[in-house]
Amino acid sequence: MRLENLRLLHFRNYEQVSIPLGHNITIFYGDNAQGKTNLLEGIHTAARGFSFRTRHEEELPSFGAEEWAAELQYRDRYGSSRLLVKRYPVRGRMKKENLLNGNPVTPREQYGLVNLVLFTPDDLQLVKGDPALRRKFLDMEIAQVSPVYYDLLAQYNRVLQQRNRFLKQCRDREKLEEAQLLVWDGALAQLAAGILDHRLQALSGILQAARQVYDGITGTQEALTLSYVQKRGDGEETVRENPGPGAWEGFYREQLRLRHRLDYLRGYTSLGPHRDDLEIFHEGRPLRAYGSQGQQRTAALALKLSELEFIRSVREEYPVLLLDDVLSELDQHRREKLLGFINGTVQTFLTVNDRHLAPVDGDVAAYRVREGRLEETP
Ligand code: ATP
Ligand code: MG
Repeated sequence: MRLENLRLLHFRNYEQVSIPLGHNITIFYGDNAQGKTNLLEGIHTAARGFSFRTRHEEELPSFGAEEWAAELQYRDRYGSSRLLVKRYPVRGRMKKENLLNGNPVTPREQYGLVNLVLFTPDDLQLVKGDPALRRKFLDMEIAQVSPVYYDLLAQYNRVLQQRNRFLKQCRDREKLEEAQLLVWDGALAQLAAGILDHRLQALSGILQAARQVYDGITGTQEALTLSYVQKRGDGEETVRENPGPGAWEGFYREQLRLRHRLDYLRGYTSLGPHRDDLEIFHEGRPLRAYGSQGQQRTAALALKLSELEFIRSVREEYPVLLLDDVLSELDQHRREKLLGFINGTVQTFLTVNDRHLAPVDGDVAAYRVREGRLEETP
């Protein structure tokens, strides 16, 4: 996977730019608030169809503008393609178009086209931050390579919302309607089982890839382990085996049914993949509880970089790596390991305040970013 060119029109603080992206490593450097992250956001928006920074698309057009466009030229095993995402007013309403080589694509189709791994300072919280971060990490990693998983997630979230809405209605009416709730249980259980099965299957590949990076940085051997933790009501349980989707479906049906009363009182669904978590261990001890900040960051880095190998193992080519401001958050040892790891193998776009924090050579382009303008420098 190779990005070749990015064009932005009235996007954030870029009026109009066209940037060749074809190098192995492209560095965007400069002071704060000049537009470095906006460029990565532009790449992501063109590639995926949405921003990684906001769900409010009215924030994207340059101040004073209404319409915007982001266009990405890229090359994969199948050849060269062009993705264009644009939003413009038609008869007083905003219309958005996502086009692949001029033809409309759905969000689902677009999701798997350009494989991206995005790494921001927030990801350094992966080990000790909120469980939602770790679920999102798993979901994005798997959905990129599996349209089936993408669909499962979308359907699951829809049914989950419906079940929760129904629980609230029951609560408002002060009457638990079990027969109807069982119908929702059935729909939810089937989807939950599919999601859990996919996650558990992916986990060993992710662990294997993460260990390579982790051991490389720390000099340990297979020190890192991951386990999948199922929240069950008030307690939690580590999942040690995967009996497959059929068995999980039965499990969820049963467990959801046992929780009818509890869910009714709470007004939401207390069990399911939307509550699960990933526990990360160093030599058998949970890193979240016992790890030093450095160990936690190393594990976070290893997990993020595992995405590269994981996606490659499925897609047979590396994804593109976007590193936003991560280098300044790492110490020199980890920085060198990270740069050593990517250099030459993975096409990388990185932002940094200080150019010297990215001492890379080879096929590299560097741009100084100042007030929405780019200047190529040695
Ligand atoms: P840092 O080093 O602090 O992360 P950065 O170079 O990554 O900075 P960006 O986040 O890319 O900065 O850009 C921030 C700049 O973009 C700010 O000056 C902000 O005012 C401007 N900006 C944000 N949204 C828009 C918009 N819709 N139109 C014009 N300018 C915008
Ligand atoms: Mg930034």
